[in-house]
Formats: sequence, structure tokens, C-alpha cells
Amino acid sequence: MPDVVIYTRDPCPYCVRAKRLLDSKGVAYQEIAVTGNPQLEREMARRSGGKTAPQVFIHGKGVGGADELQALDASGDLDRMLGRPGRGSGSEPDSAPSGVHDVVILGSGAAGLTAAIYTARANLRPFVVEGRAAGGQLTMTTDVENFPGFPSGILGPELIGQMRQQAERFGAHFTTGDATAANLQHHPIGLTLDGKEVQTRALIIATGADAKLLGLESERKLIGHGVSTCATCDGFFFRGKEVLVVGGGDSAMEEATFLTKFASKVTVVHRRDKLRASKIMQDKAFKNAKIAFVWDSTIEEIKDAVQKKVERAVLKNLKTGDKREVPCDGIFVAIGHVPNTKIFRGQLEMDPNGYILTHNGTTTSVPGVFAAGDVADHIYRQAITAAGTGCMAALDAERYLENSSH
Ligand code: NAP
Repeated sequence: MPDVVIYTRDPCPYCVRAKRLLDSKGVAYQEIAVTGNPQLEREMARRSGGKTAPQVFIHGKGVGGADELQALDASGDLDRMLGRPGRGSGSEPDSAPSGVHDVVILGSGAAGLTAAIYTARANLRPFVVEGRAAGGQLTMTTDVENFPGFPSGILGPELIGQMRQQAERFGAHFTTGDATAANLQHHPIGLTLDGKEVQTRALIIATGADAKLLGLESERKLIGHGVSTCATCDGFFFRGKEVLVVGGGDSAMEEATFLTKFASKVTVVHRRDKLRASKIMQDKAFKNAKIAFVWDSTIEEIKDAVQKKVERAVLKNLKTGDKREVPCDGIFVAIGHVPNTKIFRGQLEMDPNGYILTHNGTTTSVPGVFAAGDVADHIYRQAITAAGTGCMAALDAERYLENSSH
């Protein structure tokens, strides 16, 4: 038996993802839940040298968090480390009986899961590919207060968990992995899932959007070492510390407000002198005594990449050009998202920012290919609109399959 240990905290979407991947391998593992136990939190940080949860150890060796685990899986190294038969052995049930799926859904956020519920209920046996970021952006949020039907709000990961259960109940089949290539020019449509070929008559793209980064070299080096895009995942490392949040939208206000549970001071750095966030989120942040604002400014550099530790940020005032260094222990980047459409470039009509263009509901420029959720929506980007377009994509795919000879 492989010796697998995973340190987790709650809530922590990446922890859920990593556990799901291990579950899909059928391996037993020891889970060490560190929430509320400072000694275990320190142990996790000491053993891993990182500032993020989860942390996975296989045979005593630290392999990193959910992303690293996923990368090991993609290369086949995870199977080797776990002593499992490799890919292609038939151990993973990802082929349809005929060899061609009726419908493959890429993505398992609110859009993908709603599409899965509807297509499963229509007996289309949807095959859902849960990407590296399984569960989508809702798993990164805390309270969702605006999803109808939950008058007291619901935690994002809980909402997603319930949608997934509902899809499973109707027979949706899930696989963990990323689509690394697509051929939309021929029917059936071809997809490469981490090295395996899959064919489908209809495709629903619900791959969502990923957190944008500032693009600084020092930021890249310090991700996981004090720079984060997920306050719910990493906020607890900053108990009693001072952190910066970059951005002026709802995400930045939500992250800043959440971080005040742990940090002694949260400074929002915004590039203009007005927030983009909704009034209610702005008011919450302005009323919070722990939150300060630095206006008209951007981060030019984060120090100290050499020490692998966030110690200060170089801020530049865009109006005056003045630069100054601000001491801080962590930096949370909350400046929006980029759609996950790379593998479809040149094959589907997109806008200049890479969002998929849809016409008449969720139809794309390729017959049999439908797009739902944030991957095709840079305007509304709400959980409820993602779920709504997921439903539309399922109905559009069902109608397409009924009328298609492919
Ligand atoms: P957003 O609304 O696009 O805001 C991004 C913010 O980051 C803007 O203030 C923008 O500045 C700033 N920014 C962008 N690129 C930057 C860069 N390179 N350097 C510095 N600053 C940069 O994105 P979001 O906050 O992630 O929200 C996305 C959508 O999700 C919205 O529709 C929002 O309502 C929704 N959302 C809702 C909730 C909720 O209801 N609980 C929570 C989170 C998000 P400018 O303002 O100058 O453009």
C-alpha cells in the first residue's frame, strides 16, 4: 500500500480537488485536517516549505498541492508513485459503450454541472471532464448570497458539491483531467484528455475562466509563497499579519473582507480612484476598520523572490509616478479572469479577449459545439447565469443530437 498523507483545511477547494483525484485512483490516504490547530498548521508549513493548502506527501516525499498532483497525474508519474497500472490499461472507465459519447461536457463549475444534470436526465449519459480547477470559481468563494433559493446564503463549495451530487444521481459520469487538444473540424468531435483520445457527437464547453495575474516575474516566483489568488484557501496563513489585495472589483472586496478574519491589516491597492465593485460590496469594505485603500496605484515588484518570501511590495502611483515600498506578509491578486479557451483557438469564433462567441442561445460557430458559463460571458459572470446557460447548452445539445445524422 502506498503511504499517502494529505494536509487539508476547510474550506479549501484545492483540498477537495486533490482528495477527489486521490479518490479516483482508489488509494487510501491519511488526511490531516489542520483547521483550528495552529500546531498542525505549522507542521504543514514546515514540512512543505509552502504557504498553501493542501500539501500531499507520498512515501514521505512532499509532492506539492493540487496543481502539482494533477501535473504528476498528467505525466503518468502519479500512477507510478502509487504503484498503479498506468493509463491506457483500461483501469479508467472513460469510454462510451459505442466508443463515441453522445455528449462530453468540459468543466464542472455551475455551467458544466447544470448541463450535466439536464443531459443526464435526458438519458444522454454525459461524460463530464472535471478540469484541474474542478468545481470552478464558486469553489473559491465563501458565502454565496445571491443564488436564488438560499435565503441565508450558501457556501460556494457546498453549492457546487450539491450540484455535482444531483448530476451523479441522474447518471452523469465524471473523470478528472484536462482536455489538452481538440479537433472540432470533423465529426465525431475528437478530444485528447491527458493523452487519451475521446470522441463525442456533441460537446459542451464550460471551461470557465482562470484568475488573472499581474504578470510580474517576482509574482510568478512567489505564488504559493505569500502570493495567492485564493483568500479562502490561503488566508489562514496570515493570522495577525499585514496583507495587500490588488483590484477594485467584487472579487477584491470579497477577498479583502474575508481576509480581515485573519490579518491584522488589509490594504486594497487599486489602479484608479474609484472601485468597480457593486455598492453593497464597497460599503462592506469601507465600513471595515481593518481595510485601508491605496488609490491610483499598481504593484511594480514584490520582494523578496530570492528569499522565497513576501516581505514588501513596490507600489507606483500612476498619477504622480512616485514609487514607495510597503511592508507586507502576503499579496492577494484579485484582478479578474481570462477564459480557458486555448485549445479551441483558430477552431471557434471568439472575441479579441478569447471569450467564445455564441449565437441563438449557446450555439457556437461549429455545429454540435455549445458554450456555457464564463467561457462565453464576460458581462454577467454570475453563478446563476452560468447555471442558466448550462441548462440552455444541454437543451441545445439535445435538440442538435435529435436532428443530427452524425
Ligand atoms: P472585475 O469586475 O473585472 O474587476 C477586476 C478589477 O481588477 C478591476 O477593478 C480592475 O481595475 C482591476 N484590474 C484588472 N486588471 C488589472 C491589472 N493588470 N492591474 C491592476 N488592476 C487590474 O473582476 P472580478 O472582481 O473578479 O469580478 C468578476 C465578476 O464576478 C463580476 O461580474 C462580479 O460582479 C462577479 N463577482 C461577484 C461576487 C459576489 O456577488 N459575491 C464576488 C466576486 C465576483 P479597473 O476597475 O480599473 O478596470
